[in-house]
Amino acid sequence: MKKILIANRGEIAIRVMKTAHKMGIKTVAVYSEIDRNAPHVRYANEAVYIGESPSNKSYLLGDKIIEVAKELNVDAIHPGYGFLSENASFSEKAAKNGILFIGPNPHAIRVMGSKLAAKEAVKNYNIPMVPGIDKAVTDAKEATEIAIKMGFPILIKASAGGGGKGMRVVENEQHVAEQMERAISEAESSFGDGSVFIEKYISSPRHIEIQIMADTHGNVIHLFERECSIQRRHQKVVEEAPSVILTPELREKMGQAAILVAKSCNYVGAGTVEFLLDNQNNFYFLEMNTRLQVEHPVTEFITGLDLVALQIKVARGEKLNIRQEDLKIKGHAIELRVYAEDPLNDFLPSVGYLEIYNPPKGDGIRVDDGFEEGMDIPIYYDPMLSKLITYGATRAEAIQRMLFAIDNYHIKGVKTTLPFGKFVCQHEAFTSGNFDTHFVKNYYSPSLLQNEMKDKAELAALVALKLYLEDKAQLRVPSILS
Ligand code: ADP
Repeated sequence: MKKILIANRGEIAIRVMKTAHKMGIKTVAVYSEIDRNAPHVRYANEAVYIGESPSNKSYLLGDKIIEVAKELNVDAIHPGYGFLSENASFSEKAAKNGILFIGPNPHAIRVMGSKLAAKEAVKNYNIPMVPGIDKAVTDAKEATEIAIKMGFPILIKASAGGGGKGMRVVENEQHVAEQMERAISEAESSFGDGSVFIEKYISSPRHIEIQIMADTHGNVIHLFERECSIQRRHQKVVEEAPSVILTPELREKMGQAAILVAKSCNYVGAGTVEFLLDNQNNFYFLEMNTRLQVEHPVTEFITGLDLVALQIKVARGEKLNIRQEDLKIKGHAIELRVYAEDPLNDFLPSVGYLEIYNPPKGDGIRVDDGFEEGMDIPIYYDPMLSKLITYGATRAEAIQRMLFAIDNYHIKGVKTTLPFGKFVCQHEAFTSGNFDTHFVKNYYSPSLLQNEMKDKAELAALVALKLYLEDKAQLRVPSILS
């Protein structure tokens, strides 16, 4: 493998290129109109313009990207996450054109891309699943009957769902029909597939996922868990590894279940098997993501492995040279997704001009980003600015480093989730490890954050005043001269 094309942008494109360059592999970037001067374009050995700014006119143009890859004699395509990463026909077309897709086979992508098909595939492997139905429903009356039998609250979910979209919690039978209509229409507009199904709503769950890696020789290993329970709108904001809640026995059980899920679809490459864990420590299979996950750096920190390097090696047909029994968790890592969003205003996107952008540096601090000072944050794509990851020998040290890193991350021009990350890391529920996916609902309110920010601003003003008065005192002209 001499040259790979990265069919993505921003931090993940750069992340993949870093490893490729380390492995002596040349890289090709693709870019849209608005990304002409983006760092990922400069980071690559070659870069090709592929179209206008909206992603359906650039980063989602599979055929165009394959054409570029052929023209430039590219050996493989890395899709990153999002965009074409879970598009089975894209991976198929790449293969037909003699280009390796760095990811699983189209069959695995197809099966795991549909939550219903995924449930069907793992049915015979004795993997616990969230109680629910295993087929799509369209009729509100039928759905209401199912829900009554199951017991409220229930969750209506889009089979093709992702990013927390097309999901509706329903508390009682009066609201089934109306919420179903909404879920179907959201699923249709977001995924072009309106199939929805019903799951029991687990009342106080934690989101725990297992990283797996599989080669083409039948070896599948798991790289432990990531805890992703701190979410807003059913989407992750803070992730960590390991999870405080897992015992070695439960970790092993969930790890083995994840390996079986991978085996159920002849999986190859890096993948993530997501579970919900209830407050009795029962775990349930949720779905599998057939790509590199946003939060993969926390796993890299605690295992010392480079997941992109492993993806590339496995795609080249190499055997995994790591045995499960040799893997050990070392230390603790936390990731904060730094979104250009306003935590004081319902986490709404806050795109604009990056007037100041100065990321923190230091021991145990990693920043994966794709922006720099003086750039505009485009409205066309996910508003994630960067990922701030900290590592420590213990969880307390990782949290301490996260607080230090947040205080030393200077961004002006857009609102970000940095103050929210600080709120989380200082909250007793988080530091004690006693939290679930309802952290935001249970403990967070914009006014609390506003007070904290106000206190900080007041403190900063007082410090500035003190320094000013001290300076003034020192500068006072000695009376002998006056
Ligand atoms: P998506 O593919 O949209 O990310 P997931 O199935 O992965 O959807 O679920 C995303 C989040 O939604 C989970 O992490 C969890 O917080 C919540 N969730 C999903 N299913 C359930 C359920 N049955 N009960 C309670 N919460 C759920």
